[in-house]
Amino acid sequence: MELKVCKNCKRLFQYIYGPEICPDCLKNLSHKEPDKPEEELSNTNVTKSINSELELFDKVKEYIITHRKATISDISLAMDVPPKRLFEWIREERLEFSDDSRDAWFTCERCGAKIKSGRLCNRCKDNR
Ligand SMILES: [Zn+2]
Ligand SMILES: [Zn+2]
Repeated sequence: MELKVCKNCKRLFQYIYGPEICPDCLKNLSHKEPDKPEEELSNTNVTKSINSELELFDKVKEYIITHRKATISDISLAMDVPPKRLFEWIREERLEFSDDSRDAWFTCERCGAKIKSGRLCNRCKDNR
């Protein structure tokens, strides 16, 4: 029998045959699972478009927080988002304006009161 240095961990071990790797490393290497799940690759494109939409939404939200008096047209210009998209977010109550940006507020679809997001003011919501 012959002593050799393991190519993996550099320890001396009793070499018998095969690759110059000690029995411990041989065991670890052969038990290693392949760590690339292939399913993820096919979904990449879908996830990407969702992420960019969310990213954009987050940026707009941040912009409203840091520019508290910004109006729809300000936001649209600064963030390069069509006003239509902003209105959609606001109608879905995903976006809300600060108390300072009264110019950008909407009117309640029922009574015309100023509202920050959604379609109806709180009063009309309650009386629905
Ligand atoms: Zn080894
Ligand atoms: Zn109302």
